[in-house]
Amino acid sequence: MNDINHLREDFPILKRLIYGKPFVYLDNAATTQKPQVVLDKILEFYTTQNSNIHRGVHYLSEEATAAYESARETVRKFLNADDVSEIIFTHGTTDSINIIADSFGQAFINQGDEIIVTGMEHHSNFIPWQMLCKRKGAMLKVIPVDDNGTLVIDKLNELITQKTRLISLTYVSNVLGILNPVVEIVKTAHSFDIPVLIDGAQAVQHFPVDVKALDCDFFVFSGHKIFAETGIGILYGKQNWLEKLAPSRFGGGMVKKVEIEETSFADAPLKFEAGTSNFAGAVSLKAAIEYINNIGFSDIMAHEQDVFDYAVGKFKELEKITIYGNVSNRCGMLSFNLDKIHPYDAALIMDKTGVFVRTGTHCAEPLMKHFGIDGTIRASFALYNIRDDVDKLVESIKRVQKIMCAEI
Ligand code: PMP
Repeated sequence: MNDINHLREDFPILKRLIYGKPFVYLDNAATTQKPQVVLDKILEFYTTQNSNIHRGVHYLSEEATAAYESARETVRKFLNADDVSEIIFTHGTTDSINIIADSFGQAFINQGDEIIVTGMEHHSNFIPWQMLCKRKGAMLKVIPVDDNGTLVIDKLNELITQKTRLISLTYVSNVLGILNPVVEIVKTAHSFDIPVLIDGAQAVQHFPVDVKALDCDFFVFSGHKIFAETGIGILYGKQNWLEKLAPSRFGGGMVKKVEIEETSFADAPLKFEAGTSNFAGAVSLKAAIEYINNIGFSDIMAHEQDVFDYAVGKFKELEKITIYGNVSNRCGMLSFNLDKIHPYDAALIMDKTGVFVRTGTHCAEPLMKHFGIDGTIRASFALYNIRDDVDKLVESIKRVQKIMCAEI
């Protein structure tokens, strides 16, 4: 088992003092901090290899291209995809979903067709489908969420019809941390020949993902949520789907031949990577995945489970608090509200105690509406959070309650 305190040393930002003291970073679902090895890799790339990829025959360009393509292989292994051609570099989860909404939508969505999402999606996995449906005269259907925040999965069979063309859902809710039964959903969908896109933005940081075992058709995530740079993301697509989809963005680097009358496109993945890719971001993603691999998911999961269970136990001791998504199959975050205290007021005070959490709708307004609330306070964890962070979080919450409600 790795010494987690030692791992904290890997993240230089955690040494910073804010308001004259160490801070507790519990906003990891929004973005993670970066370990020194990733920062070093970015600096090394720019100081020794920087050059545009796939364009030049000169030494630097070939080296940069090799680094980029080697990052693609690292991601392939990370997701256990069959082939590197199934790994497309994008700018992030949002970008990946928009690419599929455009390309899949163009080819396979017609008037009267149906797309299914869930009531707990991040806006990134909601609005692109909503817009597509509006454009094409299709219908967006939603798997509902119950009072605990769990998907009402029995409804899926009712929602699926002959017109259902795609199901797109999140693996882990970015508000509740709840894990959805994606394997079961993929099985059901495939029994009707419906492809499934899984939004893995909140999954890949916490546990291993095997796209073959999931058997999903598309899988997307963002590098910045697993210790890499911002502006780099992944779109995995099964080869047979990527072959059928035409690109929806056009430019350099994605063509076979361009003539005044006609253009023919490169094969996947390049046909989906128009323009200059974030190649330095890809290099940082490789470094981040190697960092995770060196620690190993079994140690990461054991440590995160320990801190999460500790937090759940400590939260049980708190009064006048509502925790959303209070079920056993969840990871990475706790979303809550304090009685009679607006989440923004709470977070402002918590900030001054050096505890950094996120408040608001978390880009999941349909879910907020379901719970009848304006927002929540979300504390989200990463591998460098420790029990002491939980203690400080709990102290900070008590301080908020004391300041805001003298009677508590
Ligand atoms: N889906 C989920 C589940 C997320 O948590 C997020 C980020 N909060 C996104 C999509 C969007 O990710 P990005 O902003 O990196 O594109």
